[in-house]
Amino acid sequence: MSDILLGSHCGMSGSEMFLGSAKEAASYGANAFMVYTGAPQNTKRKDVGELRIDEGHAYMQQHGIKKLVIHAPYIINLGNTIKPEIYKLAKEFLAVEIERTIAMGSDTLVLHPGSAVGAEPEDAIAQIIEGLDEILTGDMKCNIALETMAGKGSEIGRSFEELAAIINGVRHPEKLRVCFDTCHVFDSGYDIVNDLEGVLDEFDRIVGKERISVFHINDSMNTLGSHKDRHANIGQGNIGYETLCKVVWHPGFTDIPKILETPYIPDPDDPDKKRPPYREEIERIRAYGS
Ligand code: FE
Ligand code: FE
Ligand code: ZN
Repeated sequence: MSDILLGSHCGMSGSEMFLGSAKEAASYGANAFMVYTGAPQNTKRKDVGELRIDEGHAYMQQHGIKKLVIHAPYIINLGNTIKPEIYKLAKEFLAVEIERTIAMGSDTLVLHPGSAVGAEPEDAIAQIIEGLDEILTGDMKCNIALETMAGKGSEIGRSFEELAAIINGVRHPEKLRVCFDTCHVFDSGYDIVNDLEGVLDEFDRIVGKERISVFHINDSMNTLGSHKDRHANIGQGNIGYETLCKVVWHPGFTDIPKILETPYIPDPDDPDKKRPPYREEIERIRAYGS
């Protein structure tokens, strides 16, 4: 069986910046990882020249880390048709994030499609398409992976049809991919526990399985169709270890990176502190396939 690409979200801060992210990934035994280019909630960004990108890539190579994925901040909302200034900021900042993704040596920028915030989903989708059309170019050196969303509030991307509408609506669909988040798909009502192959077939019919360029592997604290979006640790939620491992080890997606975004857990040495669960979770998922 060929190897999988498995890792987690990693931080990027302090003086080591991206070099520190690569070290963090290696400390979990990961061979892929994801970072935000700065705080996910705001637009404050360090200059790319300060990120220690080359040192990070050298470290990745020395430690067998093959794949880097970037996640755009949550505040980008191309779907807001109520406040033009939010839409304008979203377009400006997304263009900058694409530049940063390329500068960081990644070909994949994960993006939450947006939220309708009180408007009709069709109007939000139309504006997301319009915004992407202003930004996507045919020779762009990275792709945007639209994330499957749980459908909390007025989130767009809660169904495969909504993602397909965006992809089929833009002028450069070849620049769009999908980030398949297991918690979000389950919370939005797709029963991957009892019918994983059926859900993947449905995705293939509506969007096309070759569009998936990254998976987010998260268990869910809530039930099928709850539209909540609260991640649980692997095997501690309603999706369960078995199903999540089937996704990670799926023979149709061996080359696709799988990224954990599971919550930090209480530190046994200091109950007031939390620590990342990723080293153990990666080990347990790897054990399933070997
Ligand atoms: Fe996300
Ligand atoms: Fe996610
Ligand atoms: Zn989530």
